[in-house]
Amino acid sequence: MHDDFSDAELEAYLDEALPVAAMSQIESALRGDASLASRLAAINGRRDGGLHSLGEIWRRHRLTCPTRSELGSYLLGVLSAAQAAYIAFHLDLVGCRCCRANHDDLRRQAGTDAAAPGRRRKYFASSAGYLQPERAKQ
Ligand SMILES: [Zn+2]
Repeated sequence: MHDDFSDAELEAYLDEALPVAAMSQIESALRGDASLASRLAAINGRRDGGLHSLGEIWRRHRLTCPTRSELGSYLLGVLSAAQAAYIAFHLDLVGCRCCRANHDDLRRQAGTDAAAPGRRRKYFASSAGYLQPERAKQ
């Protein structure tokens, strides 16, 4: 009966990030449903283990912009997959203007930095796919 709660909803419940009605709906479901409670415990245990879904990372950091040095690390491709996914999400989906401006500025600086041509090429190659269809490059 309570299988309609997704993991993402349970994660949001743990973060107290759901609307009040949804919070109390899950709370009352938890009282009568041992399997839902064990799912919640499993999610909580996984979080304690340091594994976070993109949704959790976003909720935890949505009020916090990445620092300029984190954006620089992102451009160089040296962040963990989760950090890079968060920054890509922040820039591309959240569309934070401040960070996009910072990011563009850093990218311009990287364009004048002759020390890292390989990394620069890699970055532009990976972003080129977003700007034009694959077949246009032939
Ligand atoms: Zn931002």
